Amino acid sequence: MQSAPGGVIPAYVAFGANLGEPVATLRAAAVALAGRPGVELVAGSPIYRTRPIGPPGQPDFANAVGRVRTSLAADALLDVLHAVEAEFGRVRDVRWGPRTLDLDLIWYEGEERSDARLTLPHARAHEREFVLRPLADLDPGLVLRGRTVADWLAALDPQGVEPAGTALM
Ligand code: ADP
Ligand code: MG
Repeated sequence: MQSAPGGVIPAYVAFGANLGEPVATLRAAAVALAGRPGVELVAGSPIYRTRPIGPPGQPDFANAVGRVRTSLAADALLDVLHAVEAEFGRVRDVRWGPRTLDLDLIWYEGEERSDARLTLPHARAHEREFVLRPLADLDPGLVLRGRTVADWLAALDPQGVEPAGTALM
């Protein structure tokens, strides 16, 4: 199915990057996503800097969330996210280097599913401060897995997410 059944559907996309210039990458990726047919980017959250989990020495992440209106079905929107990742997301000088851009589909109105390709709402969004905090800036009352984004966020221990001083758009 290439188009959504009910016309234009709201959805949220999470942006993340931790190589190169992550804040600039997120802002450029937002412009690229907004330029794709069938995708309108109607709002962008502030950008946050996130302390990486795992071994020390990794650069901080930049994270943000964008509100989209799309005529694409969820699968087709995921294809678009992967295409934008491919446009930005590879270090081109060294083989297939690590991704500089991760785009995840957090929520797509009316879709609840879990299969090999797509879990909606996103399987881990509700436990990640770097998704919940920017999502709460846009839509604190959005319900993910039975609780609002604001409630999920209030229940979390801090995970090292600080405003970067600029916004996605
Ligand atoms: P991660 O985002 O967990 O770091 P990837 O970006 O490499 O990992 O995604 C791995 C796979 O996760 C994708 O190929 C995609 O098919 C799948 N996936 C399942 N649900 C989602 C979702 N809601 N948003 C984005 N990708 C998803
Ligand atoms: Mg991803």
